[in-house]
Amino acid sequence: MDFLRPASWEEALAAKAEHPTAVPIAGGTDVMVEINFDHRRPEYLLDLNRIGELSEWEVGQENVRLGASVPYSSIMEHLRAELPGLALASHTVASPQIRNRGGVGGNLGTASPAGDAHPALLAADCEVEAESVRGKRLIPIDAFYTGVKRNALEPDELIRAVHIKKADGPQQYSKVGTRNAMVIAVCAFGIALHPETRTVRTGIGSAAPTPIRAREAEEFLNAALEEGGFWENGKIITPSIAQQFATLASGACNPIDDVRGTAKYRRHAVGIMARRTLGWTWEQYRGAGRALEGAA
Ligand SMILES: Cc1cc2nc3c(=O)[nH]c(=O)nc-3n(C[C@H](O)[C@H](O)[C@H](O)COP(=O)(O)OP(=O)(O)OC[C@H]3O[C@@H](n4cnc5c(N)ncnc54)[C@H](O)[C@@H]3O)c2cc1C
Repeated sequence: MDFLRPASWEEALAAKAEHPTAVPIAGGTDVMVEINFDHRRPEYLLDLNRIGELSEWEVGQENVRLGASVPYSSIMEHLRAELPGLALASHTVASPQIRNRGGVGGNLGTASPAGDAHPALLAADCEVEAESVRGKRLIPIDAFYTGVKRNALEPDELIRAVHIKKADGPQQYSKVGTRNAMVIAVCAFGIALHPETRTVRTGIGSAAPTPIRAREAEEFLNAALEEGGFWENGKIITPSIAQQFATLASGACNPIDDVRGTAKYRRHAVGIMARRTLGWTWEQYRGAGRALEGAA
């Protein structure tokens, strides 16, 4: 196995163009497990660790441009206000050691349906900045996951960054596992309220071949909130609306039975998480509204 160590982003792109089968390695928390268990024996490893800009982020007017290798611990420490859903999801990843090494670029590279970043990214809305010597493109997150552990990257492309919408409202992340740490999700649910566009977006993990959005649930809720004037009047969401949202979220799942849980359990748990996270975020939204009214 050859180890390629580019000193710059341009060198990394050139190396990937020359060796399209080279496996990029960032934190190595997925790649090294696969190599150690002999699940993968790549001809070339492409080490991205000398490329400093991959571990940097920029906070813009509307988006955060998050470098592919920014570790989860930095997201938790520095980007909680801008990316609350992703920060909450980061908290649930593994252990402090893994959170210091692993990042969103690696989670996207692996594209496991159980990866914790995905539901938060789907709910927040983002684009993946992919680059090759041929140029740069932005891949909408909805188009990124193409199959079980498959993504939309071309063989010569690398992930440079992820452009994630800054939160304009409350976000939540919920994960079911057999314990509180060092656990792969049995299933997970992310939700983001977007008061500016009066929409709610969702993300479901580990309950379908790829991470998915609960689109019908979103459409139902968006229409119900609009119709009832909920965004303006800040009323409590009625139990029947919350229940229908949960039922539709559950129905969006296409899970399997495996060692971590049954398909039936996953569908059930996603419905519960959908209802609870909707309640939590809506309470936060109403609280913020009341605080603003008080200040006026
Ligand atoms: C003990 C343990 C516990 C874990 N627990 C969790 C958990 O709770 N939740 C969770 O989601 N994950 C978990 N993981 C998996 C892993 O930590 C995450 O998927 C992490 O985000 C991977 O990031 P990384 O930088 O280490 O990726 P790497 O291992 O370096 O790479 C992962 C994949 O992405 C590709 N890649 C990396 N960077 C790029 C890039 N810039 N462009 C293109 N492709 C790239 C690699 O080629 C590889 O295919 C765990 C792993 C371990 C070992």
